[in-house]
Amino acid sequence: MADKIQLLPDTVANQIAAGEVVQRPSSVVKELLENAVDAQATHVSLIIKDAGSRLLQVVDNGIGMSHTDARMCWERHATSKIRKAEDLYAIKTFGFRGEALASIASVARVDMLSKMKDKEVASHIVIEGGHIKKHDFAAGPNGTNIAVKDLFYNIPARRNFLKSETVENKHIIEEFTRAALVHSSISYSFFNNDRLVMDLHATDAKSRLVDVFGRVKHAELLEVKEESPIVSITGFVGLPQLAKKNRGDQYLYVNDRYIKDHYLNHAIKAAYQQLIPNDMHPLYCLFLKVSPERLDVNVHPSKTEVKFEDEKALYAILMASIKKTLGALISIPSQQTIGNLNSLLPNSQPHFVPNTVPNPQYNPEQHVNKRFNPFGQDMPKPKSAYGWEKLIDPFNVSQNEVLNQDLSINVTKPAEESDLFAVKFNANTPIDSVFQFEDLLIAKAYGTLYLVNIFLARERIWYERYLKTLEKRNAATQQLLFPKTLVFSPADAELLEGIVPHIRSLGFDIAAFGNNSFIVNGLPADLPKGNEMRIIEGVLAVYKENQSKHNLTEQENIARSMAKNAAIMAPKVVQELEKSALLTSLFTCDFPKYCPFGRPVFVQLPRNEISQLFKI
Ligand code: ADP
Ligand code: MG
Repeated sequence: MADKIQLLPDTVANQIAAGEVVQRPSSVVKELLENAVDAQATHVSLIIKDAGSRLLQVVDNGIGMSHTDARMCWERHATSKIRKAEDLYAIKTFGFRGEALASIASVARVDMLSKMKDKEVASHIVIEGGHIKKHDFAAGPNGTNIAVKDLFYNIPARRNFLKSETVENKHIIEEFTRAALVHSSISYSFFNNDRLVMDLHATDAKSRLVDVFGRVKHAELLEVKEESPIVSITGFVGLPQLAKKNRGDQYLYVNDRYIKDHYLNHAIKAAYQQLIPNDMHPLYCLFLKVSPERLDVNVHPSKTEVKFEDEKALYAILMASIKKTLGALISIPSQQTIGNLNSLLPNSQPHFVPNTVPNPQYNPEQHVNKRFNPFGQDMPKPKSAYGWEKLIDPFNVSQNEVLNQDLSINVTKPAEESDLFAVKFNANTPIDSVFQFEDLLIAKAYGTLYLVNIFLARERIWYERYLKTLEKRNAATQQLLFPKTLVFSPADAELLEGIVPHIRSLGFDIAAFGNNSFIVNGLPADLPKGNEMRIIEGVLAVYKENQSKHNLTEQENIARSMAKNAAIMAPKVVQELEKSALLTSLFTCDFPKYCPFGRPVFVQLPRNEISQLFKI
């Protein structure tokens, strides 16, 4: 029998490779933009027509190619980036395989002009479906200009498979954005059908984010910076109010390469827990640097998945560093404020005078930094006469610990777990710097003017208490003298029955009684009596609403529903003595700055900003 094995012609082999490398127009964009960066370009233009199906062109001012290289680069396995087998780890890390251009050329018509600085003329090459049609000299600027036309013209099945222009454009914009965010020192322009749609000047990473996202302001981005032997992390995370329903604005890079990683994304999301609703996604753009040996092999260059050796440690470090960053956001006191705290306290409390000299170098963020310790090594805790660092570090202490500090003993009595509806205070609580203006408390506290939304503050305080009570299941119940029977609609009765265990752990003594009715024997202590039906109906209503709008755990939903109802039922006018106690309770919350649904609870006006308002 005759031999039947043949080597595939290069063009066919390249087309097969193209199946992996060139999935759609945006894949070409990705490869060409990467090559421009590798060629040390400082300006890169992307030009597309008809969502890339007619034209995808990248023009750079990089190092360019020699006449021979301009021909060679279209060969399979042609690369200047790997020379020897030891360089192979670079394949795993950066995806250099010398495959991209060969693949692209096999499924399109390509026209390239490339010139090195020290050469007189540029090289010009024309390729169609992998076949060289022209290789000569032409006039041209320094750098490389590659135009990819009629993508998939020779593979109709794939051309027909392209999605709508809107979808393909979206993918292209996404690739452009990914490149632009990580290379902020490069200026980028983007032309779509001859229209300049994006013009990004070289800048720093933060300004680049602001320029790219448009909707984001500098002040809404918090810097993340972390150095550890396993990973270095830099980048920015957005304030909770920038969170969106879709995952759009989330960019994670490893060694300057964009990646998708559900596990690490989870770490970031977890850091925002309680700051944003579960079904919202925070904005972030983070750059991880990891030693290439710690990245797993066998990753295809066109794919965005990588595998880390130290995945778990990475998760912990990432989460902790973002929490630390967000901790700076929710910290209340600032350096000058320790002394000013006394303005909140009556003069007759000499024992409250600080017994250390305020340190002008004091910086609450640095405190948090020093204590950040993802590796579990023992580190000395900074000492403070006030326990302030506990207040500003929401991750290491429970609210009770905070309340048991000397500070709180003077300012407010510790709130009992069962004390769900009242914020306790003692008669010495100072009131002179707090007053109510409609639905706001206006306070001078910690050297800053605060405008606090009363409703949202109560919601936050109670939400955290309910969550803790639900966890510990230690609510106090006050038995009713005369048990009440409540009748619900069949749908509500079914819902209520499902969440009765949680409701019980909040202190309700309630049980199903058949026929859509429930018997209530007791209520959480401090809950106003005589309103059983209203309270439970209110909780159910909010619970249902949360169920349809947010993707919450049952516990979280109950805590939020109860908190909202508690806030609704609380008197609109805050008692004189309760005012500063309410603020103290708020500021000792784990996350005082945002309500459980992500709205800001208060606005701060520091003294210097007020002065600026008066142009002083
Ligand atoms: P890889 O990037 O993996 O090396 P490519 O097929 O993308 O493979 O590119 C092949 C080679 O062509 C590169 O190694 C580089 O030497 C050269 N090259 C590609 N694009 C450019 C460019 N814009 N400027 C200069 N050289 C380039
Ligand atoms: Mg490449």
